[in-house]
Amino acid sequence: MLPMQKLIGRLVTSLAGADRLWEEKTAALRPGELACRPGCFGCCVGLFAIGLPEALALRHAVAELPARDRAAVLGRATRAAEQSAATFPGDAAAGFLDPERSDAAEGAWFLAARGTPCPVLELPSGRCAVYAARPTTCRTYGLALRTGGETLVSACELNFPAASAARVLATAIEAGNLTGVDQALVEVAAAAGLPAGVETTIAHALTGAAFAVLERGLR
Ligand code: SF4
Repeated sequence: MLPMQKLIGRLVTSLAGADRLWEEKTAALRPGELACRPGCFGCCVGLFAIGLPEALALRHAVAELPARDRAAVLGRATRAAEQSAATFPGDAAAGFLDPERSDAAEGAWFLAARGTPCPVLELPSGRCAVYAARPTTCRTYGLALRTGGETLVSACELNFPAASAARVLATAIEAGNLTGVDQALVEVAAAAGLPAGVETTIAHALTGAAFAVLERGLR
């Protein structure tokens, strides 16, 4: 079994693959197309699903924060988990999303949590407290996500202010390339003996009881 530090290092290296996709795409953009900048945090509000490898990388980064910052993050995570408890489609105490959750349940939860800031978002600076260990979604949001000619996730509304739909699609990240990043994360986690298919949120990764149990098995 991999020691925890080594596992986290491999997970963060795998996550960096998403940064490379972002950098390749944004390097080819035209002036004025990209509004993303430090301090803009519109995409850091609302809860969303992350995988177990991302959850462990994030938990490790939070554990390494100075005590005061860590306490503030955990307090916000607890409040975010409490606020979404009524609609959370899964086992909130463990921190796991139900892999069999329906689209309707997912939609209701997503809607209820749409105004909840990410627990590791620091305000008013708009800084991510765990930037180097942030999940894949955070590394690619802003550009659209596509599969061939079909848009799966729209670009941030602040980007591409005067571009045509065709131009936005042409600048999108191909989902198949992101699958490679996800697969790398899954392989690293599997090598460490972690279960496959676990999904959570940033708030629940930090507050769910199951994650501490999983970590103890890795040390
Ligand atoms: S992890 Fe960081 S980048 Fe991702 S939503 Fe939270 S604050 Fe934003």
